[in-house]
Amino acid sequence: MSGRINEEDIATVRERARIDEIVGSHVALRNAGSGTMKGLCPFHDEKTPSFQVNPSRGFYYCFGCGEGGDVISFVQKIDNLSFVETVERLADRVGVQLRYTDGGAGHPERGLRLRLMEAHQAAAEFYADQLNSAEAMIGRQFLSERGFDRTAAERFGVGYAPQDGKALKRHLTGRGFSDPELVGGGLVRESGWDYFQGRLLWPIRDSGTQVLGFGARRLLDDDRMPAKYLNTPETALYKKSHVLYGLDLARQQIGKTSQAVVVEGYTDVMAAHLSGVETAVASCGTAFGDDHARLLRRLMGNHDAFRGEVIFTFDGDAAGQAAALKVFGGDANFIGQTYVAVEPSGLDPCDLRLQQGEAAVRELVARRVPLYRFVMANVLSRHDLDRADGRLSALREAAPLVASVRDYNLSSGYVRELSNMLGMDVEEVRQEVARTARGGRPKPDNAREGQAMVEQSDDRRWLPDPADRLLLTERETTKLLLQAPALFDPDWLGLEASDFTHRAYAALFRAIQSARTSADGGHGSEGAAWVHRVATAVPHELLTSLVASLAVEPLSWHGPATEQYAYANAAKLRLLTVMRQVNELKSKLQRMNPVQNPTGYNQMFSELVILEARRNDLHTQSLRGPD
Ligand code: ZN
Repeated sequence: MSGRINEEDIATVRERARIDEIVGSHVALRNAGSGTMKGLCPFHDEKTPSFQVNPSRGFYYCFGCGEGGDVISFVQKIDNLSFVETVERLADRVGVQLRYTDGGAGHPERGLRLRLMEAHQAAAEFYADQLNSAEAMIGRQFLSERGFDRTAAERFGVGYAPQDGKALKRHLTGRGFSDPELVGGGLVRESGWDYFQGRLLWPIRDSGTQVLGFGARRLLDDDRMPAKYLNTPETALYKKSHVLYGLDLARQQIGKTSQAVVVEGYTDVMAAHLSGVETAVASCGTAFGDDHARLLRRLMGNHDAFRGEVIFTFDGDAAGQAAALKVFGGDANFIGQTYVAVEPSGLDPCDLRLQQGEAAVRELVARRVPLYRFVMANVLSRHDLDRADGRLSALREAAPLVASVRDYNLSSGYVRELSNMLGMDVEEVRQEVARTARGGRPKPDNAREGQAMVEQSDDRRWLPDPADRLLLTERETTKLLLQAPALFDPDWLGLEASDFTHRAYAALFRAIQSARTSADGGHGSEGAAWVHRVATAVPHELLTSLVASLAVEPLSWHGPATEQYAYANAAKLRLLTVMRQVNELKSKLQRMNPVQNPTGYNQMFSELVILEARRNDLHTQSLRGPD
């Protein structure tokens, strides 16, 4: 029977246990002003933080799900402990000797979860000690062959489970743990034998320091368990879908840098941390899943969707690519923040550090690329992009990937990038993605890109949507060109066909250019004659009808069509082109490793500076009009 804890002692525990520190080991907290701190709620899934902690008042509250309370209820809820267990655990932590009332003789019985936590702590210490035994030579050898010395082993708490088979049980029984506790915690098997025997062990902790279970590597040829790696079975404490090895060591850096690196094995986590990649974690005996993703996102704080990065290291081989595709199929919210670091040599971080040094591990992470780009490149590599039909089938295969991204801003960025990778028109890619998203059928095979204009002659889809907001400036400028060509100088105010992203507008602009040339350079031919000349210069009858409609469609601006208005429109259109170039260059820069290619990087960087200057210039012009 558990005695009741003295009320005064509970109050002391509540006072001494700092809520910001305890919550902070589960959630990245940032100052939100007036003594409050903010983070992502650990009790419900959210993208923007509504979870608040007030350290001076010792309270937390989530405006999203309404969960709230003091430090005791937080630990109770997050660690799934009873009230008494929580107070006991916190009392140990802050050094309060609890007094029990009406508890009777003997020390009161603690709850099972808390006992399992204590047993694991004791087991981890026992195993770490055993690594120094004569028998553990083979384990020490395993470590040193992989470049890990004694200090490294201690830093990561690596241990050794003796072959004896009852050593842990004896040790923990001597410490007062009962058989049901040891079996329930997955430390001892039903048969009475230690769960792990003759293996090298890594303690798996929560984001605080609590050991929840172990991962174990086979060392001996006569190990009766054939699996190379064994993990603690699922227990009240250990849930493989919710644990990440290295989380306790990586937690602070993950919060500070809003970055987490997911590697594949225990030795990879060690190698990464020792190489200076202190945000590395690994899933244990299971694939990385949505729960793991949520865990990391919470620790990253993720206050800005563009900042958080989860980087997966994969082998460059087929299995690694398949793994990447699997991640892509996961939580859609997560994809935009997901990156892939592929080592072309196929070495994992542990071998990479051993063979090429610690800088190579850091560079592997620096070379990361966005996951969707990796996956799309992977899909595209299976097609011959030099052929129009190859591009089309690549587009059809890649479109569902992009369509699966629900975030509009993300998906429109992917559309643009996919069209760059394919070398296809943005609008065509956008339409295919939209069609896939609607669950529509792909275009018939004979709709080859080169002949699309002819074959789709009865298909008005080819024409731009007048209401497309992204194309408003293109449409307005084309209307001005048709309705008031005199407002443009002989150089068309610096406009080029490439300033028009929709190919119908671009084709129309080319026709306008040639219509003027054929009229001996003057553009005195206002009105119907001018429109007629343009209409005869367009390459297809569909465009003729576009010319006709644009010639009569009112300007979206209600003021008079002045020189200044035409000038501002042209500047705006050129500004959009420069902005696209800036984005492309930035994305190239992001893909480039400055360490590997400093010259190329610096060159691109100076190009970027020039483009940014032009952008500012055009921005001013688009607002002001000509001097
Ligand atoms: Zn919440």
